[in-house]
Amino acid sequence: MSTTAPAKPRGRQFFANPGPTNIPDSVLMATAHQTVDFNDPNFTAIYWECFEGLKRILKTKQSIFLYTGSGHAAWEASLVNLLSPGDVILVLESGHFSQSWARMATDLGIEVRTVPAEWRRGVDLSALTAELAADKAGAIKAVGVVHNETSTGMMIPVQEVRAAIDAAKHPALLLADTISSLGSLDFRMDEWGVDCAVGGSQKGLMLPTGLSFTGVSAKALEAHKTAKLPRHYFNWTAMQNRPLKSFLGTVPISFFYGMKEALRLIEQEEGLENVFKRHSRLAEAVRQAVRHWSGNNGPQLFCQTPSRLSDSVTAVLMPEGHNANALRKVAMERFNVSLGGGLGPLDGKVFRIGHLGDLNEPMILGTLSVIELSMKVAGIPHAPGGVDAAIAYLAAA
Ligand code: PLP
Repeated sequence: MSTTAPAKPRGRQFFANPGPTNIPDSVLMATAHQTVDFNDPNFTAIYWECFEGLKRILKTKQSIFLYTGSGHAAWEASLVNLLSPGDVILVLESGHFSQSWARMATDLGIEVRTVPAEWRRGVDLSALTAELAADKAGAIKAVGVVHNETSTGMMIPVQEVRAAIDAAKHPALLLADTISSLGSLDFRMDEWGVDCAVGGSQKGLMLPTGLSFTGVSAKALEAHKTAKLPRHYFNWTAMQNRPLKSFLGTVPISFFYGMKEALRLIEQEEGLENVFKRHSRLAEAVRQAVRHWSGNNGPQLFCQTPSRLSDSVTAVLMPEGHNANALRKVAMERFNVSLGGGLGPLDGKVFRIGHLGDLNEPMILGTLSVIELSMKVAGIPHAPGGVDAAIAYLAAA
């Protein structure tokens, strides 16, 4: 049996997946740091800089806790620290990631209720208000929402979720997954009354995968005191007693050298609001291309609610009878471009273009060109000229 990998096309791989994302060279360099003692004041100074920087990105002045682990770790931390066996969480259905978080809650012994949604149109928030208003006994302890549903390319407005909870005058905690929005789309933990914001390192923060965190409100810290789900590594009370207010075990020091540089790029070199504007501009360029391709019975935007189109990921629905994975295979094997696949029931039906993190116009245009080229090679119907539509938009933007 041959162990030789198939020959790769030359040149750098274009990574157009919605996470993990491209890591800027200066972040990579900074991450490659020699091991130091994590109690050394030279390290702790960097650690606290990052700690405060993360709070600024979350737009919170309240608490945060950090975990060595991908986004799933912070998901689990949010649930086990805030809920007790049999408590009810009301999850707003948005797609694969809302379903996965809900499944995790079920596995942990939490009762899950769902505000259902048609994935292409998104949840109706008046149904959330109605569900909460009907909960006279106060069984619902938390509402969970995925701010940016990475599987469908839909952004759910968290401030409107807050307003829907307030309209029902319900005391439930608001838990928001910001894994594919933070550092790419506007998110305001304190202003929007989010009690627990779940984030990860590998998307808008442009870091490697493996660090996650939760922003935690004062109200959530109070609820934590009486929450009874078993927990150990994720226990916020134990973390509060640690010198670094997180991490029961070894601190992943190299992340913090990288994070210091990533925060410098985001906050000082570009500015957070400009980061959002860049994401919005590049996202619209992608959408212009997809809308154009949709002629001739070509692929189309999966998300059908214009006000909720995500600025960090676009899901593209294939024409009937054509498999998204065949297109992805051509893009990857012939042209070294990695596109995201459809998740759960969207496998084969959808491909996803990640446009978040360390990304500029040439990278987006390169990706769009290869998608158009791959559609031609794979014989997928489309209206040629989507890349020109993106160029026209970017030239005028
Ligand atoms: N939530 C969202 C919205 C995501 O996009 C992802 C991963 O892509 C996750 C949760 C799970 O995070 P991880 O894969 O880092 O564990």
